[in-house]
Amino acid sequence: MISSTGDSGHPSRSRASRLTVRLAVLATTVALGAVGVAVSATPSSAAACNGYVGLTFDDGPTGSTGALLNVLRANNVRATMFNVGQNVQGNPSAARAQVDAGMWIGNHSWNHAHMTSMGQSQMQSDLSQTNSAIQSATGVRPQLFRPPYGETNSTLQSVASSLGMRQVIWDVDSQDWNGASVSQIVANAGRLQNGQVILMHDGIQNTRDAIPQIMANLNSRGLCPGMISPSTGRAVAPDGTPPTNPPTTPPTGTPTTPPAGGTCTATATYPNVWGDRYNTSVTVQGGSNWTVVVALTAPQKVNTTWNGTPSWDSSGYVMTMRSNGSGNTFGFTTMMNGNSGARPQIRSCTTG
Ligand SMILES: [Zn+2]
Repeated sequence: MISSTGDSGHPSRSRASRLTVRLAVLATTVALGAVGVAVSATPSSAAACNGYVGLTFDDGPTGSTGALLNVLRANNVRATMFNVGQNVQGNPSAARAQVDAGMWIGNHSWNHAHMTSMGQSQMQSDLSQTNSAIQSATGVRPQLFRPPYGETNSTLQSVASSLGMRQVIWDVDSQDWNGASVSQIVANAGRLQNGQVILMHDGIQNTRDAIPQIMANLNSRGLCPGMISPSTGRAVAPDGTPPTNPPTTPPTGTPTTPPAGGTCTATATYPNVWGDRYNTSVTVQGGSNWTVVVALTAPQKVNTTWNGTPSWDSSGYVMTMRSNGSGNTFGFTTMMNGNSGARPQIRSCTTG
């Protein structure tokens, strides 16, 4: 839904081309076989950037999210998508596609209401429901929140903060929601300065058409698309360059003996990588009552999980995750603890 007064996203782009590294990690076909691991990495290339700006796109996903992602990919842009919860619930695969295309995901409320007229508990419920929909669809826990219409107050800010999100408004309004032409959108984006954030929207043809010129202008000024820092709300370099090589230290130890039952396939991706930690999203195919065994490499440690019930072996590095009715995608955040290259290995996937 397009807001009537503007609000919404800002994309950041990594200047260098992103490569998607797909590693068919040894299907150490444990007795059960069918253990697939796909690794998606999107390193930002080492281009000359004098600064970073945050490109944001609000109100998605929409019926034209795919078209937007195509334009962004073609221009090597990584952006922040402030999604509306009910849109995510209605089109989870589009939300997933945003993450797969290297975009960052923020919370833009459940149904784009005027939230300053809500009480605290209603705000909390609205934002929590939205985060749940986003996590369920993408495995990503939003760390940024943009209030619809940019309307906020201290209660809303504190609710967002209590849910682990930083409020982000914008510095530059592209006016795309207000019928701006392509050239007007390009001109508005031309005002962006280092660290600033621009409001744009998913679902608007002129916005998509403006992106190549916006990027040409930014490039000419040495500005690159960046991520929005959850600590400062400013555009910064995408951090945590993902590994371009498989982990050099394979996990040791014997694969956990899986319980009797059928097999399934578990596929891991890493939608978010920060300087000190990263998220792993695992999607299971082949059954809804699943058990997935994941091995970490020391000294990495998991500190948060979602959409599953975890248990640990005595070493603390082998996690058994069981379905808990939250769907077939679970996730967890791993602290690197000095080892930024290793990624978890899926040892088995069983059902029943
Ligand atoms: Zn909006």
